[in-house]
Amino acid sequence: MSGLTATPSGMRPADPVMWPDGKTSAASFSFDVDAESVVLADAPGAASRMSVMSHQAYGPLTGLPRLLRILERLDVRSTFFVPGYTAHRHPDAIRSIVDAGHEIAHHGYLHEPLIDVDPRTEADILDRGLDALQEVAGVRPVGYRAPMWELTYNSPRLLAERGFLYDSSLMDADVPYELAITAEESIVEIPVHWGLDDWEQYCYLPGISGSGLIETPAKAIELWRAEFEALRKDGGCFVHTSHPFLSGRPGRAAALEEFVEYVAGQEDVWLAPLGDIARHVRGLGLGPRHIPRP
Ligand SMILES: [Zn+2]
Repeated sequence: MSGLTATPSGMRPADPVMWPDGKTSAASFSFDVDAESVVLADAPGAASRMSVMSHQAYGPLTGLPRLLRILERLDVRSTFFVPGYTAHRHPDAIRSIVDAGHEIAHHGYLHEPLIDVDPRTEADILDRGLDALQEVAGVRPVGYRAPMWELTYNSPRLLAERGFLYDSSLMDADVPYELAITAEESIVEIPVHWGLDDWEQYCYLPGISGSGLIETPAKAIELWRAEFEALRKDGGCFVHTSHPFLSGRPGRAAALEEFVEYVAGQEDVWLAPLGDIARHVRGLGLGPRHIPRP
């Protein structure tokens, strides 16, 4: 026998979620404005690779304005997860997101990977990110997404202590739920998945990410649409994630626009920013789920 033990009550699946206004499922198109930070966190030496840095800067400089124009045309509001470093390096780009009426959420300072990071360090990163978003955009976010979706078992408590309403980094359900922190306290969790992220479809950076195979927008949208249609039938919450430096390129953005327009046109689907979804879920009074460390 191993030394691992489960809690006496065990883990239970998430409860079904009732959606507002007669809708039977939910969807959200979220954007992670990683820019240079995601590369620098892993490989600080890449700061001297001008072409690599330009590949990442394409996001805030060129992709983001295009995506904001698309969202405006479709009258869709979204959530943008912004590392503090991106806010400091590209303040006008981040302010343009706020000016367009979208939600800004927290995504680390330098997109720090949190694997084996101690709670004190994680808290410092959270505070640094909060300070940057406040300083640049005047925003106090209610939402958080761990860089690389690597939440730690300390993160929910650290987020609650700072007044966050929700996280969007875990993968164990098709619908949002209340993630227990203590007997009295929880935060809303809005689950994601690698299959609904544009990174795996589009990202190639020599020596940094990808194999050199770059998928077509048609193939990426086919994958996402299949998941959307099936989740929709199950009353789930479809959370799509894209990066302006990837999906902001013209052909990909055009394909994404068509897909967002399709989802926005479905009468049974509630298309909303993640903050709105989290507030709705908080109002349902769901029983918190305990997810103990194995
Ligand atoms: Zn990211």
